[in-house]
Amino acid sequence: MRPTDRASEHPADGVGGHRQMPGSCAALVVAAGSGERLGAELPKGFVAVAGRPLVCWSLDAIAAAGVPRAVVAVPPGHGAAAEEALAGSGGAFPLGLALVEGGATRSESVRNALAAAGEVEAVVVHDAARPLATPELFRRTLIALAETDAAIAAAPLTDTVKEAGPDGLVVRTHDRSRLWAIQTPQAFRTEILRRALDVPDDVLAAATDDASLVERAGGSVRVIESPPANFKVTTPHDLAIAESLLC
Ligand code: C5P
Repeated sequence: MRPTDRASEHPADGVGGHRQMPGSCAALVVAAGSGERLGAELPKGFVAVAGRPLVCWSLDAIAAAGVPRAVVAVPPGHGAAAEEALAGSGGAFPLGLALVEGGATRSESVRNALAAAGEVEAVVVHDAARPLATPELFRRTLIALAETDAAIAAAPLTDTVKEAGPDGLVVRTHDRSRLWAIQTPQAFRTEILRRALDVPDDVLAAATDDASLVERAGGSVRVIESPPANFKVTTPHDLAIAESLLC
């Protein structure tokens, strides 16, 4: 069972008046990472959680949000297995579900998926490794594009954040009231993401999220507060928690 996010009207999302999804949009789901840190033999996006491949939970939420098309980046060489795993999910997308080969880095996987997205006004990028993202969260990021180039799911920090040197000695304590832990979904006006991803491979490889590339390209980025369950499955412990929340 998926937790719900009833907070559909978030004044903090910064959108007043009519709250509408972009005229055309597609989801880019990156599922081309390995299962190494999970200790899994399968690529992480295809590990079974609550009886289904991890990526299927996100695809359900994206379809329920009303996004009509999705492109999934899968590990090179796993196309046939991915197709089999996703058989049936395609029906939820009236404009289709496409698979592309992922790249060596996450941002390369996003770039490959974007190339197959078609001519859409907006895209929403999502990690297959976050199976608990709600339909409402996808909608809120897309709707917020009325007033910004990018709108990204984020959690306010609850721990105190300190910076330490290589010797482990603390050099500074940051003001956490303005700090956010950044997640996906991340929604973008398509043109600005295209421009942002058109950078040398070393810049692309160093980016841990796509919004940072949009910031670098001069675009405006707004945070959208996400519900607490939107964590990323990285370790076997995370997998066990996701399993218990989704069962
Ligand atoms: O490795 P990490 O957990 O940060 O990956 C975040 C997401 O990016 C995962 O859903 C993973 O499948 C995806 N990814 C990808 N291509 C890569 C590396 C990661 O699609 N080369």
